[in-house]
Amino acid sequence: MQSQNANVSLEIADRIRVAVENGFEEQTAFLADFVRIPSLRFEEAAAQDFIAESLRKRGYAVDDWTINLSDLEHLAGFGPVMGDFSRARSVVGSHRPSVVKGQSLILQGHLDVVPAGPHEMWTYPPFDPVVRDGWMHGRGAGDMKAGTVAALFALDALARAGFEPAATVHFQSVIEEESTGLGALSTLQRGYRADVAVLPEPSNFTINRAQVGALWFRLRVRGRPVHVAVAADGSNAIMASFDIIRALQGLESEWNVRAASDPVYHDVRHPLNFNAGKIQGGDWASSVPAWCDVDCRMGVLPGQDLNDAKAEIEACISAASRDHPFLSNNPPEVIWNGFQAEGYVLGPEVDPALGVMQDAYRSVFGTDELLVENKMTALTDTRFYGLYYNIPAFCIGPKAENIHGFDERVELESVRKLTILLALFIAGWCGLNPIPK
Ligand code: ZN
Repeated sequence: MQSQNANVSLEIADRIRVAVENGFEEQTAFLADFVRIPSLRFEEAAAQDFIAESLRKRGYAVDDWTINLSDLEHLAGFGPVMGDFSRARSVVGSHRPSVVKGQSLILQGHLDVVPAGPHEMWTYPPFDPVVRDGWMHGRGAGDMKAGTVAALFALDALARAGFEPAATVHFQSVIEEESTGLGALSTLQRGYRADVAVLPEPSNFTINRAQVGALWFRLRVRGRPVHVAVAADGSNAIMASFDIIRALQGLESEWNVRAASDPVYHDVRHPLNFNAGKIQGGDWASSVPAWCDVDCRMGVLPGQDLNDAKAEIEACISAASRDHPFLSNNPPEVIWNGFQAEGYVLGPEVDPALGVMQDAYRSVFGTDELLVENKMTALTDTRFYGLYYNIPAFCIGPKAENIHGFDERVELESVRKLTILLALFIAGWCGLNPIPK
């Protein structure tokens, strides 16, 4: 791949590298402070404050707004929210250069993290980051606070080296990546655009060429409550929900058989995963449960029509209910909420940016090997930029382990390399203006 802006001289690249090294201790401390904020869904305000304040201190033009669902509902990619969305915010810090020479850039990171599970199962407390053997432990350290912080400190390093990006850069801090993507969608609705969007999700320096889509839904199963003494006269909603879950596992198998002939995913083993991820039900140990709610996720292939996929899921649930004495007359309700996300495959429009990234990669790793591309069985916010707004978008990020699991951690050496990589990418893509002394 040939890049358009391979104009970062060795001397400048070296200055940038040194500037990253000099700031890395501060960067690691900053990352720990960020991980310490438990930015779970609907509780992201303190973390957004932290980022907004950091951007303001650095002199970015900061846009910090409350997301209004009614602004987004009609937009492609929208996913409905169940829960209190009244305090949901997006934060964007913009750099606008004195002289424009290069191409504009969105650097985007999500700060929402998934629940940590029982804290006693962690070696170190999930929101009290600890560095051991070169890895920082903590929920969100890998997915994806280390990447976001690397982007911020890459920009800092350029400034310390005496430069500003010679094109507009929007540094975006979003929420909801793990549930709907509405944070990313809100920045696009607000009008932010660029020539490329880079999302430093943990990828161990691979490029995600393709990602699946996902549907979230709540299965609302009802039963007939009776005293357990006459359990046979009732209908147990919790037990009945297992029948539906098994039927959905059957549909998952069917879809994966189909995926074997998909033009993109044919060589990926079991790309589509169904998950019964959260279950609540019943009221009393001696009453046959009257209700059970199961929150589910099903993967879909790029190009798979979401309405068709939903119809198949609903048909599967009603078929499984038909044989059931109680559910046949009281079929479960399916509530579509959260991800209503299509898959996304990078097209050739992303190649110029990948060319610049390739040059930066060569410089950081001292290798002539090409960036490794992969096909994800999960999804990222890149889809909004790429599918609906014509902004090529890709992920590249640090080495992390156990994301969404116990003992999530990120390797600090990979964070250091990522920071240099992003700084060199910004230099190559946006160009550089010397900051007047
Ligand atoms: Zn992530």
